[in-house]
Amino acid sequence: PTLRVALMGLGDYASRVAEAMQSCKRAKITGLISGTPAKLQQWGEKYQVPEDSRYSYENFDSIRDNSNIDVVYVITPNALHHEHTIRAAKAGKHVICEKPMALDVKEGQEMIDACAQAGVKLLVGYRMHFEPNTLEIIQMRDKGELGKITFFQGLSGFRIGDPSQWRLNKALAGGGSLVDIGIYSVNGARYMVGEEPIWVTAQETKTDTIKFKDGVDETIQFQLGFPSGAVASCLSSYNIDHLDRFFLSGDKGFAELHPANGYGPIKGRTHKNELRMPHGAQQTLQMDEMAAIILDGKQPIIPVDGIEGLKDVKIMEAIYQACATGQKQELKLL
Ligand code: NAD
Repeated sequence: PTLRVALMGLGDYASRVAEAMQSCKRAKITGLISGTPAKLQQWGEKYQVPEDSRYSYENFDSIRDNSNIDVVYVITPNALHHEHTIRAAKAGKHVICEKPMALDVKEGQEMIDACAQAGVKLLVGYRMHFEPNTLEIIQMRDKGELGKITFFQGLSGFRIGDPSQWRLNKALAGGGSLVDIGIYSVNGARYMVGEEPIWVTAQETKTDTIKFKDGVDETIQFQLGFPSGAVASCLSSYNIDHLDRFFLSGDKGFAELHPANGYGPIKGRTHKNELRMPHGAQQTLQMDEMAAIILDGKQPIIPVDGIEGLKDVKIMEAIYQACATGQKQELKLL
């Protein structure tokens, strides 16, 4: 069977997902949710979604009666993920929610609970979890080819433009660079090291208090400690360009991804050779794999469920706490 997907929030990233889904083998767009009638019409015609499967934010709860939709893919600004996920679950639909899953741990837990209560699955849009070069490294690590893992470095950032966008508005974004782009290093530290961190320290620097208002972080450096003794050192920024690199070191070898998280080909090397797994649109792979997870109960190599999303939210909350207090924060993720 094919996973029938309603896209919610027809912005930049939804456009990328919609285009990539045209090449999916097991997922297709059968519904649209937007606050802009003109977008509903334009997207509806382009992707052949009939009028009775186009919804607004006011009336999308009636998606419950639409037997041609299995899942709602929430691609709205971060602060709306909580409400949109819970309403979609209550309408009896599975949910794929974009990252960051929630603004805080309380919200994230409520989303997990609502999906459990409704008997629907909750997945988070972690596209890297299906990326072949990334998975190649994880396989090598699990086979012991890198030896004992001792260190991870994650660099995630770019110089953000337009100061009026929602990403720089605390109410809609829930934070700054960390929740938007630094989350790739938070999440990546966990899947690259292959353990859950037990403590975090963090430091924030702000050079532009006009563009990056209170609660919107410009640059954060953070460090994670893992039970084995491995450590991670990461950088998240909205004001430093060309930050897209992962480095993993073990006592028998290393692996490097650069770029590590961009939409284009993920490139990298290990102490043995260049990584050369084939590249397709990451969102095509993601949606086909998510179809198998939702429809067949397939277990992904790296989890993409709500619990996985909530772990990253917990760590980010602790990072903000560490920045505010200057104190090391203990973490309990398991
Ligand atoms: P965007 O601004 O381009 O799109 C957001 C959409 O939500 C717009 O169409 C907007 O009209 C709509 N919207 C609905 N209610 C709104 C409101 N109250 N205020 C503002 N907009 C509202 O943003 P985007 O880049 O598409 O990001 C959307 C989500 O996708 C974010 O959570 C972001 O973190 C996530 N994202 C994920 C990836 C990824 O690689 N996984 C990449 C980009 C964005």
